[in-house]
Amino acid sequence: MTIRAGMGYDLHRLAKGRKLFLGGLEIPFSAGLVGHSDGDALVHALIDAILGALGEADIGQIFPDRDPRYENIRSTELLESVMTKVRKKKLRIIHADAVVVAEAPQLGPSFPDMKKRLGPILGLPAGRLGLKAKTNEGLGLIGRGRAIACWAVVLVGGEKD
Ligand SMILES: [Zn+2]
Repeated sequence: MTIRAGMGYDLHRLAKGRKLFLGGLEIPFSAGLVGHSDGDALVHALIDAILGALGEADIGQIFPDRDPRYENIRSTELLESVMTKVRKKKLRIIHADAVVVAEAPQLGPSFPDMKKRLGPILGLPAGRLGLKAKTNEGLGLIGRGRAIACWAVVLVGGEKD
């Protein structure tokens, strides 16, 4: 039995006139995350955590933002592609936990739907996927509503070493 931990972090700027994608959902809000893809910082943090546990390069190297294939792509598609790597190595996700730091919108009410969206992709029941929301107490760029940041940790396990 092998168990590997991975951690991921991501931050995207918020801009008016963009749709907000977070945790695989489109969330009604006055601004959205700027990115080559849909800007879903929560999914990106989860992807980097998984890639870290696999000992692979980070998300920016695997899905480069110069590549037109990834322009405006839904990040859940990138997550599905990373999960293919996990299964190819005969590994699985045991547990994932994430923190989203956003001054607004309030994300707690969206967490059950995010778990329903992300759980099947990660192969996790809702009880093995932790999602938490924090504000930045009005401080800094996140506190002024200019950006949203996410941290994620995952445990990846498999039979072999
Ligand atoms: Zn990102």
